[in-house]
Amino acid sequence: MSNYFRSNIQAMSGYVPGEQPRDDGFIKLNTNENPYPPSPKVYAALRKAIGASLRLYPQPMSDSLCAAAAAAYGVDKDNITGGNGSDELLSMLLRCCVGPGDRVAYPVPTYSLYDTLVEIQGGVAAHVPFPEDFSLPEELARQAAPLTFLCNPNAPSGTLVPLPEIVKLACAVAGILVVDEAYVDFAATEGASAVPLIRQLPNLIVLRTLSKSFSLAGMRIGLAFASAEIIAGMNKVRDSYNLDRLSIAAGTAALEDMAWMKRNAGRIQRSRQRLAGGLKRLGYQVYPSHTNFVLARQRDKNLKPVYEELKRRKILVRYFDTPGLRDCLRITVGTPTEVKVLLNELATIPA
Ligand code: PMP
Repeated sequence: MSNYFRSNIQAMSGYVPGEQPRDDGFIKLNTNENPYPPSPKVYAALRKAIGASLRLYPQPMSDSLCAAAAAAYGVDKDNITGGNGSDELLSMLLRCCVGPGDRVAYPVPTYSLYDTLVEIQGGVAAHVPFPEDFSLPEELARQAAPLTFLCNPNAPSGTLVPLPEIVKLACAVAGILVVDEAYVDFAATEGASAVPLIRQLPNLIVLRTLSKSFSLAGMRIGLAFASAEIIAGMNKVRDSYNLDRLSIAAGTAALEDMAWMKRNAGRIQRSRQRLAGGLKRLGYQVYPSHTNFVLARQRDKNLKPVYEELKRRKILVRYFDTPGLRDCLRITVGTPTEVKVLLNELATIPA
């Protein structure tokens, strides 16, 4: 049956998401979910949306969600489109800009879904290695690619590239620059987001998700910010009704309660400091994190046994069996109690 598939689809292995165990006895620090619940206003909006109107299709362009996002971020509604998670927005962008043989440039290691999406299109991934400190590699601007990705803050390093460098990069790249800001609400520095730059940079697209800081991973809501022209182009490849009625209701309510999100992001920033401090005391190298996870390294030691032992003890963290990351664990910032339990257990597991 697979012979019916295009050769690049046959050849690829597909994206492997982090584990979602059925058994909820785990402390789950492997997929960067928020340990705090969504705003009570989200529950109220969902309750209101559940009823006979579910027989009707949702707004094709997620108008309410885009209006709430426009108000929250100070841009026009036609500078925004919604996605079924920012993953869908990434996939739309690949479909818009990348055909067989086209280059897509990004610094690595980064979010591995980019590789999968490039493979689906039959594109060519132009990987530009990050230097040791995860600062922006200069060569990224010189890849002559129709599409360049910058995950900022980056996953899995948690590190942040400052805005002036993003402006320079956008001006230097040959095509579109996509800044994936899935984690930017957790940045340690204020004003880290590139969203306001869409007014001055016609080739910039900024992606956001409500999965992390708004605690809505289960609802699948992403936002893209760009010039009206780019958004109109993206909407051509958008599935009609890509966001369902419940997601639109939940996302709109979440964006109308920024205070809830900010309070939880603040709590996570404080727990992050405790987690990073504890890991350093245990001898791990920890990169300065601007996200809701930290990357902990034991130089040149394979940390798979540590990951496996933690799992046996019902704590899930993320281990990447890929070159350059085998001596690392990516650990989501949980509640203060979860952080304490993790550190206590790690202290008894030799790396
Ligand atoms: N970008 C990055 C860097 C991510 O880590 C994730 C979550 N795995 C996403 C985008 C996608 O987020 P979602 O589809 O849940 O909105």
